[in-house]
Amino acid sequence: MERKLALALVFSLLLVLPGLAQRRVLDARQLLRDVEVLSADSMEGRLSGSKGNKMAQQYITSRFQEIGLQPYHNSYRHTFRLESKQVTVEEAVNLIGYIPGKSAKAIVLTAHYDHVGVRKGETYNGADDNASGVAALFAAAAYFKKNKPYHTLIFAALDGEELGLRGAEAFLENPPLPLEQILLNVNMDMLSINQKGELYASGTYHYPALAPYLEQVAPRPQAKLLLGHDRPEQGENDWTRQSDHYQFYKRQIPFVYFGVEDHPYYHKPSDDFSNINSTFYPDAAALVIDFVLNLDKKHPDRKQLVLKQK
Ligand SMILES: [Zn+2]
Repeated sequence: MERKLALALVFSLLLVLPGLAQRRVLDARQLLRDVEVLSADSMEGRLSGSKGNKMAQQYITSRFQEIGLQPYHNSYRHTFRLESKQVTVEEAVNLIGYIPGKSAKAIVLTAHYDHVGVRKGETYNGADDNASGVAALFAAAAYFKKNKPYHTLIFAALDGEELGLRGAEAFLENPPLPLEQILLNVNMDMLSINQKGELYASGTYHYPALAPYLEQVAPRPQAKLLLGHDRPEQGENDWTRQSDHYQFYKRQIPFVYFGVEDHPYYHKPSDDFSNINSTFYPDAAALVIDFVLNLDKKHPDRKQLVLKQK
């Protein structure tokens, strides 16, 4: 009887332990608050060059300061001229901060903060696209500020994505460090809405050597990682060119893009804070941090990551 009891105890511990082993890597309330602020009506949909976009810049700057990210050349602001079919913006703005690691080799985490603005009197708040990615960028920065990384981690809130991935292009044309030092781009764009609890990591078709680092990430209670959406034969379900990571890909820099499948609110005025999945989203953001943590502690070099086999 006693042995049975002991066995039962050991068995139940085995069931509980993997759950306990999952570290709390972010503050879910702060994460949701950041999305709520960035997708408020007062930000007017954050179109590049707009007043609302400037308000978003101020908020991002204040959060970078609060977290304690270091600027390059005394400023987070990296400006560029943006000319597109829709608008010309004399001073578009990427906001870039970093945490120095033991190694000068860098992982660049990106999330675009611009969205499509106001159209026909309707405000497109872009809560999922992409206030969710920017808030996750803050969460990752806050985590690694407290838990020193091996690699240098760069956090870039990019402008002009909706006008043709222009912030990422400007980042790479005028990078804050030599491009050879970039090990990997981790791009986050739309992390917060999925009914099935699925977050995709896209890019391992191009970089199969990255797959194990993603497969080792344990599912969280409300979100699990799936690999895919990166094969040319998938047509528009191939997300290789869909967001800022494409600019890195074009320059032979490995990337992983994290995002959810399309939902009814995508590029609609209804992409609002009220439609965020408040349980899925914190776990989805945590999975991204879990992945960066896993890769950071193993420190592969870029040659290994671009190998065509696992
Ligand atoms: Zn987006």
